[in-house]
Amino acid sequence: MGTINISKKFTAKQKSYIPALLVGMRITLKRFIQGFFFRKHDTIMYPEQRRKYSDRFRGMHFISVDPNKTENCTACYLCETVCPADCIHIVADEREEENNPYGVKKEKKPVSFDIDALRCCFCGFCEEACPKDAIKLSGNYELAVSSREEAIYDLDHLKRNMNGRQEKL
Ligand code: SF4
Ligand code: SF4
Repeated sequence: MGTINISKKFTAKQKSYIPALLVGMRITLKRFIQGFFFRKHDTIMYPEQRRKYSDRFRGMHFISVDPNKTENCTACYLCETVCPADCIHIVADEREEENNPYGVKKEKKPVSFDIDALRCCFCGFCEEACPKDAIKLSGNYELAVSSREEAIYDLDHLKRNMNGRQEKL
């Protein structure tokens, strides 16, 4: 059985391409005049200039720490369980109380805590599920990496000094 070509035939005007070219050149010239003479740009000079994102924007994860630089995470696995993308992997162990003199007693600690940012859909479920306010999503949207391995955040990376979305950056 043969196929039926239902596409419309090009008109002579469309075939010439010249009207479409002129329209494109008019837009380019308009943008050039706006930018060069009136300094009106639709783009910004990133990274010198940055856009203000909403406080609700969900960016790179981090794990909050207490004054003793001990992670607030108690390795309860709630975030790993709730994660729809299966991108959190935790290995737990016992935590000695004397290693945490400033915080509340924490019975468990994460020995390893990995988040695969390439699988993450930044839904924020982990942040909502955490009973210790340990895992949080920051306002940081600069997530570019040069290899897949670099996109797997380990505990040291997650414990770096960052601010949450509601806090001043
Ligand atoms: S933001 Fe969502 S997808 Fe990403 S780690 Fe948290 S729960 Fe998983
Ligand atoms: S980050 Fe929060 S939810 Fe996840 S294991 Fe640690 S304490 Fe539990």
